[in-house]
Amino acid sequence: MFKKILIANRGEIALRIIRCCRELGIDTVAVYSTADEASLHVELATEAVCIGGPKAADSYLNIRNILSAAMYTGCEAIHPGFGFLSENSEFAALCRECGLVFIGPDAGVIEKMGNKAAARSLMMENHIPVVPGSEGYVTTLEEAEKTAARIGYPVLVKAAAGGGGRGMRKAFCKEELKSAFSSAKAEAKACFGNNDMYMEKLIVNPKHIEFQILADSFGNVIHLGERDCSIQRKNQKLIEESPSKAINKELRKVMGGIAVKAAKAAGYKNAGTIEFVLDQTGDFYFIEMNTRIQVEHPVTEMITGIDLIKEQIRIAAGLPMKYKQEEIRLEGYAMECRINAEDPAKNFRPSPGTVDFLHLPAGYGVRVDTALYNGYTTSPFYDSMMAKVIVHGKSRLEVIRRMRRALEEMVIEGVVTNLDLQHLILYQPDFMRGNYNTGFIEKHLAELLKLHEEVYQCKKSQ
Ligand code: ADP
Ligand code: ADP
Ligand code: MG
Repeated sequence: MFKKILIANRGEIALRIIRCCRELGIDTVAVYSTADEASLHVELATEAVCIGGPKAADSYLNIRNILSAAMYTGCEAIHPGFGFLSENSEFAALCRECGLVFIGPDAGVIEKMGNKAAARSLMMENHIPVVPGSEGYVTTLEEAEKTAARIGYPVLVKAAAGGGGRGMRKAFCKEELKSAFSSAKAEAKACFGNNDMYMEKLIVNPKHIEFQILADSFGNVIHLGERDCSIQRKNQKLIEESPSKAINKELRKVMGGIAVKAAKAAGYKNAGTIEFVLDQTGDFYFIEMNTRIQVEHPVTEMITGIDLIKEQIRIAAGLPMKYKQEEIRLEGYAMECRINAEDPAKNFRPSPGTVDFLHLPAGYGVRVDTALYNGYTTSPFYDSMMAKVIVHGKSRLEVIRRMRRALEEMVIEGVVTNLDLQHLILYQPDFMRGNYNTGFIEKHLAELLKLHEEVYQCKKSQ
């Protein structure tokens, strides 16, 4: 097992990894930008190294400084967390060249799956169902129009290098395709420095169902059940839960088997996620593979009792997986709410500031993953996700009630967050019935924002 690991990340995921290393008796090196000097990950790691200025490009994406820090401090491995360098194949390859273990799949696999158009082709070759769409890239508007005519409207124009819900646009008819194509392309260029585009049929109001995968270096590949991540705003996840109401035992077995087959086809190693959309007729299609630990991984941890970060580290250290597929037990229900520093009343504008009072929920079945503390100043340079509240319970109803009371206990003063909005979603009748898809937020946002305003006025007058 490793003696020392560098964590190339910040915020709650850096803490999550540090905590896990402490339990495994592994020393940790935190890296931080000058904006993060007063951060918990710096405080809780065994050692900490400043790697540059506040901008991600100068610090958390600064490959040279991160590798120097790892070698200088005598680390044997690097955990990339999610975002930042976690899906950067060049970084994974350079780790290896420097004699460091990258805690994730091989660089070649990251590259292959990171190109979502190429990943589609690979899946098609392996008889994994993919959404009907283009073969390879779509480079011109004429090609886009031809593809759309072939697969039929509505269509989705997507960036091959896409992630975080960016670089994709819907078109419901030929007239809309022109602007969808150019704006998706422009966003892709701005976000990923790459504007290779592909196209898929837009599945109208599907469910987003993803399967957690674990794969070791001995060819063992298992799945840990699904997560339903259909509560999304602008293709970004807000609430995730497992098991999904749309998945019964038979479908779980079929989709899980296909997810395992997809991971094997990719030559996958370590923890990863196969994402599908599930349409209203029960057909499902691969959309992408995420070659890293996922934000919502705690949902799976709560129902399986398996520490995914520990498994990632064990697998990277060359140990065989502890579990066989038939040993995986899915128990109870789990749900996660992402608490973001953004103002729902102002079109979800990020709202950085200083947390001048913080109270975190706790108690039976409640877990909070966060790097917040009293007096913490959030930084405009990074992601607005501040905390993840995860609850576990015997039934879905118990979980919803537990999540409500957890969010009721939670107090974050000084920064505007989506806490109240998340709380309101937990009372929405369709949500309570589990009767929702990726169109849920768009459909109910006006009604939710109206209630949100009422809650705000009520709190103000108290
Ligand atoms: P998850 O399924 O784990 O929630 P997300 O797509 O939300 O995945 O991404 C997780 C984190 O990584 C988010 O903070 C997001 O902003 C960031 N992220 C995802 N893809 C990219 C990318 N290509 N470039 C930069 N950041 C990304
Ligand atoms: P990212 O890499 O940004 O996570 P994904 O390809 O995973 O992009 O898609 C993000 C979200 O967009 C999905 O969770 C789903 O809600 C929606 N989406 C993606 N592809 C389709 C599709 N073909 N039809 C309908 N919705 C889709
Ligand atoms: Mg995705």
